[in-house]
Amino acid sequence: MGTDMEKIEDLKSQLSYPKDIVIISHRNPDGDAIGSSMAFRYFLEEYGHVVKVIYPSEYPVAFEFIKGIDQCIIFDSEPQKAALEIEKAEIIACLDFNALDRIDKLGPLVNNSKATKLLIDHHLDPEPFADFSLSETTASSTCELVYKFIQLLGEDRKINTFISELLFIGLITDTGSFKYSTNPYTYEVASELKKKGADDYKMQDLIHNTMTPKQVALLGHCLANRLELLPELTAGIITLTKQDYIDFDISRGDTEGIVNYVLMMKGMKVAAFITEQPTIVKLSLRSKGDISMQELARKYFNGGGHKNASGGAVYNKLENVVDKFKNVLPEFLNSNEL
Ligand code: 5GP
Ligand code: MN
Repeated sequence: MGTDMEKIEDLKSQLSYPKDIVIISHRNPDGDAIGSSMAFRYFLEEYGHVVKVIYPSEYPVAFEFIKGIDQCIIFDSEPQKAALEIEKAEIIACLDFNALDRIDKLGPLVNNSKATKLLIDHHLDPEPFADFSLSETTASSTCELVYKFIQLLGEDRKINTFISELLFIGLITDTGSFKYSTNPYTYEVASELKKKGADDYKMQDLIHNTMTPKQVALLGHCLANRLELLPELTAGIITLTKQDYIDFDISRGDTEGIVNYVLMMKGMKVAAFITEQPTIVKLSLRSKGDISMQELARKYFNGGGHKNASGGAVYNKLENVVDKFKNVLPEFLNSNEL
């Protein structure tokens, strides 16, 4: 697939002496974005590179357990610092996104930079902005591809236990703990990481068993009061209003994973989590089998992602977006596969 093997030697020589490197991942970074960028940072530091990780927006508090994550630059809070680091950078690594609009105002800064751009990602429809790309849509996660990239460099011995555990984060979160999006290589990577000492039980615990009482209450509210089932369409929608955000004091990461509950119901194939944000309405879409949420998100909701997990955003009222979803779904499912 999209791997520039012939350029790997050139990249290897660029990496062979210390450089200023910036790693960027997508807005609202998730486990894979954070795990891959932090793992890649520590891997590059093993060579003596000076590495800065930049996220467009804040990371969820659930990932505060990661050593050094507080050294990341959040563009929303420190735009000038982020811009300065991008200006200084000789190499920019873009991880877990493939279109510059996924990093908001960082997009033009990256686009205008003279640095060598490296893309490691597994989303559909990549934009051609990188000098070197490892873009494989069949990969479970960007963490899997960071492991592959390090293997391509012939440097897997630099992956220590700590880096292994960071890479495990994306494997776990992007596959729902190995329930979907896996391929034979995913398990090879998991095996190698475990051999390198990764404590996967500890990582599962750190990732999943950290809900706060507030988050459990919010989940209960979503399932009891905000879930609408459309059994004839094998679909379910969960919505959250601006008022819910105030009432439940919802902050970043609190809504993570709620969409998946729809698909835990027998026979359900499509799940939508639609939330009213300050200026936009955000959609999180999930599906099973051949139904492509990426196509639905791209066609109707200015979004994209993966076949079974995509997202989008619309400038409209919450009820209009929900109506649009309900209106387009029957026809969409007919043309897809029900
Ligand atoms: P989530 O629903 O967890 O926010 O995102 C699911 C997947 O869709 C992720 O891979 C994410 O990168 C992608 N995604 C989420 N929102 C958007 C969006 O607005 N635009 C695009 N292109 N992808 C999105
Ligand atoms: Mn990912």
